[in-house]
Order: sequence, then structure tokens, then C-alpha cells
Amino acid sequence: MGMSVAIIGAGAGGFYTAAALIKELPDCRVDVLDKLPTPYGLIRGGIAPDHQSSKKIAKVFERTAMADNVRFLGNVEVGRDVTLEELRNTYDAVVLATGAPADRTLGIPGQDKQGVFGSAAFVGWYNCLPEERFLNPDLSTETAVVIGAGNVALDVARLLAKTGDEVRVTDMSHYAQDAIDDAPIKDVLIYARRGPLQAAFTHKEIKEFGELENAVTLVDPDVLPAEDEELVAKGRGSQQKNVDLMRGYSSNKGDEKPVRVHINFYAKPVEVLGDDAVTGLRMEKTVVEEDGSCVGTGEFFEVPCSLVVACIGTHGQPMEGVPYNESWQQFENEDGVIEPGLYAAGWAKRGASGTVATNHPDGVAVAGHIAELTPDAGKAGPDGLDAMVAERNLRPVSFEEWKKIDDAEVAAAEHGAPRRKFTTVEEMVAFLDA
Ligand SMILES: Cc1cc2nc3c(=O)[nH]c(=O)nc-3n(C[C@H](O)[C@H](O)[C@H](O)COP(=O)(O)OP(=O)(O)OC[C@H]3O[C@@H](n4cnc5c(N)ncnc54)[C@H](O)[C@@H]3O)c2cc1C
Repeated sequence: MGMSVAIIGAGAGGFYTAAALIKELPDCRVDVLDKLPTPYGLIRGGIAPDHQSSKKIAKVFERTAMADNVRFLGNVEVGRDVTLEELRNTYDAVVLATGAPADRTLGIPGQDKQGVFGSAAFVGWYNCLPEERFLNPDLSTETAVVIGAGNVALDVARLLAKTGDEVRVTDMSHYAQDAIDDAPIKDVLIYARRGPLQAAFTHKEIKEFGELENAVTLVDPDVLPAEDEELVAKGRGSQQKNVDLMRGYSSNKGDEKPVRVHINFYAKPVEVLGDDAVTGLRMEKTVVEEDGSCVGTGEFFEVPCSLVVACIGTHGQPMEGVPYNESWQQFENEDGVIEPGLYAAGWAKRGASGTVATNHPDGVAVAGHIAELTPDAGKAGPDGLDAMVAERNLRPVSFEEWKKIDDAEVAAAEHGAPRRKFTTVEEMVAFLDA
């Protein structure tokens, strides 16, 4: 009898593992469980709604999900509906591909004030993640601050700077489209702790800031390094290309369009100001030392604002019975092996870094480790899960049912958008049961 494997999480980490497993062990049976009725994790709920081409990889995962020996069981949450221990007693191997969904906090006084959001929550809100449906950030502000120096910070800043018409052609949630359309935002301020050469922005993302319909992008020319052959020689070609683009932005005046995006470097927030709600940020200027460390200069300034989105990374969440590394905030593992029979893939294995494709090798490695196990005839596998589902009256969503949700979302699209997403689990289940 073939190996039975449960993968917890139907994101890139989960699907790359499933694909590698059915290639490595053609007679295995793989169940991919997700707490949401929808597959694809951050491909649906993280990648920016105006970056549809980056979501096309889902088509490849669809082929895996439709393989004869793979099942998708959405709307089944491990920890709520079934326990990890039960899955381990049922399958030969269990793979944790649960991502890194928790926001890192700013770690400064006032960080919990109203109007301060982490990127996972804010991005989930505009991308229709059911958990964030009711986040309701107040966008009735003229100044929004985005903290961070990576592509997620750029996603958030770009979408806040877009017009209603620009976001209506995306699959952003309709409530976020309305909020952005109504928002009186005039200035979006991005703050990065380090300098332009340390920023993790990719060229494609930074280039989009020159193409916004209603917003002009500004960079202080004094913070940009000189055109430096030495930098190129050190292999920093891509950062140098970003600096070249930003040099172009640094000659903008700011009055060319109604909205301004300011990309600021060498400053970090040290306090969130205000009573219950944020009214501003106290910032400290920074320098990057020779050894690469970033330190405060003791020079402070204040930025009035009533919306702050901290795009400073996310981390995994512990799961009962799994060794967890508190400092790395991810499951303890060696090349994806937590212990024989229990594995981690994707962001649950490596932490929140890299692109969708970066998760591919994790899946291949985990499939290789699982191939070394001997199937246990005593494990019930998928039949065992079906028994638990029936006993507990669970309502799993199959892949065929997801395709019905998918079709309905596409059919409901307006204004040239690719889809209009369902916004809650209840809506999706009610639609399927109707
Ligand atoms: C805002 C943002 C934008 C990004 N943009 C891009 C981009 O443009 N291009 C690109 O290549 N990469 C992008 N990435 C990176 C990419 O999304 C990740 O590399 C990838 O999605 C990680 O996959 P994963 O499977 O590890 O995690 P996830 O995609 O988070 O999947 C984890 C899955 O596990 C499920 N789950 C969690 N806990 C449980 C549980 N207890 N029971 C059942 N299911 C559970 C979740 O519902 C989720 O579906 C972006 C990331 C973010 C955050």
C-alpha cells in the first residue's frame, strides 16, 4: 500500500510538496488540508491584487490538486476541527505548511493604538482574507505612513496611492476599493531604517512608482549614493539600478499630481503618538555603520498621521506538540525534518522570506525525506480523516467545490476586474449549500 500523507496548508509550500510527493511516490495518497475553503494561501491572500500575473502559478497547483491521488479539503482547521496528534495517528507523514501568518510588532511604545496595523492584517483586509474582513481600517486621513523596506511595504504604499479606478480593475475586496476611493490621502510616507542600497525592493516594484495615475514619487536626492562604479563592481547591480530609478524620482517637485509618495531612508519609528488612536509617529534618524549595523543618531522628528502600516515581516505560530524556535519564530527543523513522520515546508520551515518559487526546493526535500519512510498498514490514511469528518459533522470544501466558488467569483466581476471575491467563509459555504 502507498504512503499516506497529510499536508496542513494549501499555499505554495503545501502544493510544491504535494507535487513533489506524487512525482517521487506515484502510489502515495495526499490530503491537502486548509482552514479556508479556498486554496493557495498568500497567492490569493497576500500577493497584491494589482499583480495578477504573479498569481498565475495557481494554475500549476491546480493540476496537482486535480491529480487522482491528491485531495483538497478546505474549511478544515488543524487545532480546531482535527488535532495534529490525530493526523499523525492517521497518516504515515504529516507536513506543516502553515506559513508565517502573524505580524511582527514594531516593539515601541504605543504600537497597539488604533490606526496602527501590521501588514498581514492590512494586506489580508484588502485581499479578502475572511479573518480580516472586519478590520475596517480608517482611511479618512490625508497622511498614511508605511514602515518597511521590502516589496510588501511598496505594495501597501502603491495601493494606498492608487485611484478608485485603478483599484477597481483588480480583485481587491470591494469594501477596500470603496475605502481607497473615498480616502482623502494626499501623502503616503514610506520609512526605511537603512539606506537605498540596503532596501529589499525589487526593480519591477520600484519602477511602478513612476507609473501611478494620480501620484508622484519623491526621494530626497541627498540620501542617494553617488553613481559609484565601486558599487557595481561589488555585485550590487540591482540595487544600483533601483538607485538610478530613485534618482529620477528625486527630481520630481511634488506638485505634478494630487498625491505624493515619499520614499524616505535612514529613519525608524521610536514611539506611536496619540491617546487611543495614533496621531503621529516619533521618528529617529539612523546611520548604517561600516559593519552593516543600523543605529539611531539621537536626532528625532515627528510625523503627524492617523494611519500606520508596519510592513516589517511576519512569523509562524506555534502548534501544540511541535518544537518551536522562539528566536526564529518558526518550527524547529533540519532541512524540513521536525522528526521522522513530521515535516515542515514553505514559510513554516524557513520563515517569511522569498518568492513563491523559493518554496519549491522545500517541497522536493520533504518528499525525499518522506520517501525514506516505510508505510504503516495500521494507519487509516484518508479513510481515517473521512471518518473524523463524518463523526464531527465537519463541512470540508473539495477542490471541485472550490472551482464552483472560483467560477462564481469570476462571474461576479465588474469594471474589468478578474473576480469579485467572497468575503467570509459563511458566504462561501452558504453558496455551495444553496
Ligand atoms: C503581502 C505579500 C505579498 C507577496 N507578493 C509576492 C509576489 O508578488 N510574488 C511572489 O513570488 N511572492 C510573493 N509573496 C511571497 C509568497 O506569497 C510566499 O512565498 C508564499 O505564499 C509562502 O507560501 P506558504 O505555503 O509557506 O504559506 P502561505 O501561502 O501563507 O500558506 C499557508 C496556508 O496554511 C493554511 N493554514 C495555516 N494554519 C492552518 C491550520 N491550522 N489548519 C489548516 N490550514 C492552515 C493557511 O490558510 C494558508 O492557506 C508575497 C508575500 C506577502 C506576505
